[in-house]
Amino acid sequence: MDRLIYFDYAATTPVKPEAVQAMVESLGQFGNPSSRYEYGRQAALRVKADRETVAKAFGCSPAELFFTSCGTEGDNWAIRRGVEANRRKGKHIVTTAVEHAAVLETCKDLERQGCEVTYLKPDRAGRITVEQLTAALRPDTALVSMMLVNNETGVTLPVAECVKAVKAFDASILFHCDAVQGFLKTRSLLARLGADLVTVSGHKVGGPKGIGALYIKKGVRLRPLLTGGGQEEGLRSGTEATAQIAGFAAAVRANGADPGRLERAAAIKEYTLSNLKEAVPKLEVISQGDAPHICAVTLPGYKSEVVVRVLGDRGVCISSGSACHKGKPSHVFAAMNLPKPWLDGALRLSFSPDSTKEEADALADALKDAADSLFTTLS
Ligand code: PLP
Repeated sequence: MDRLIYFDYAATTPVKPEAVQAMVESLGQFGNPSSRYEYGRQAALRVKADRETVAKAFGCSPAELFFTSCGTEGDNWAIRRGVEANRRKGKHIVTTAVEHAAVLETCKDLERQGCEVTYLKPDRAGRITVEQLTAALRPDTALVSMMLVNNETGVTLPVAECVKAVKAFDASILFHCDAVQGFLKTRSLLARLGADLVTVSGHKVGGPKGIGALYIKKGVRLRPLLTGGGQEEGLRSGTEATAQIAGFAAAVRANGADPGRLERAAAIKEYTLSNLKEAVPKLEVISQGDAPHICAVTLPGYKSEVVVRVLGDRGVCISSGSACHKGKPSHVFAAMNLPKPWLDGALRLSFSPDSTKEEADALADALKDAADSLFTTLS
């Protein structure tokens, strides 16, 4: 395999050189931020500066931003402890059928513990409306969890409007937003969504794996998920992952220094889609995606796992949707009620601002060859 053609940036992103450098420096300065001597204090100061960087990109105060080990942890913390914080109100949760497994599996676990969960169904385009959410609210609703950008379709859900509607219904309902695919992918700051709790992850924005953050709006009280030495203001114990935090913050700064990144990602996505439609006439677009970096297409009647494997053998990396495993179609595309042949052949393409036309052309060649050579249930 001479070179990797990578169109799976929603799965993970390459670690930015600035992040690598910051991590190497941090690994060399190994002090524990909790240690009382100068070497420890220096580490604590670096974590403080890094928290300020991420908080600024979020539009919140550093006191509202808590480092976690990943997006999954942030989702678990927010939902489990959010429901618990509103226990006296009730045990009803509203979420959507298109959330990431980190949210859905957490909700399912809470169902096993006695919670009741309403899963809002998307339309054929993957959209969910404010009216749907409002209709699902009840006096015993404790928490709403709605993602900002869907990781398989790139569709943006109307989170800010939904927060307003939920708070107008009952200001005590906690609103959590999984913004893992939205952080640094939209112009607006995540704190402006108005949500009480917002989850992000480092490895989707050019930072390392193993680091994320949960925004907890001032005034919202959540019990910790992890108890121990009292780090993160007593809310998330565990020695701070100083190198990961440094890499995350450096990646955030590098994104900030590249204001044209969203337009470039959107432009290469548009080029790729029009190129693909021409090269592979059988290909259909499931979702162009509102977010600049994600879209979904399908080769109706083909088996997406086979297409992904055949392309992978040529060094072309795409995905069949994050939750597509053991031959089952993605829960997101299934919830959209796509016809079976579309479901079978569904593929997610995701982009970086630095994806090139040459790479897009190589993807089109590879998909054309796959469509010409593979078996389809429709032919
Ligand atoms: N939420 C969404 C929307 C995601 O796309 C992902 C990762 O793909 C996650 C949560 C989980 O994040 P992490 O991989 O950092 O646990």
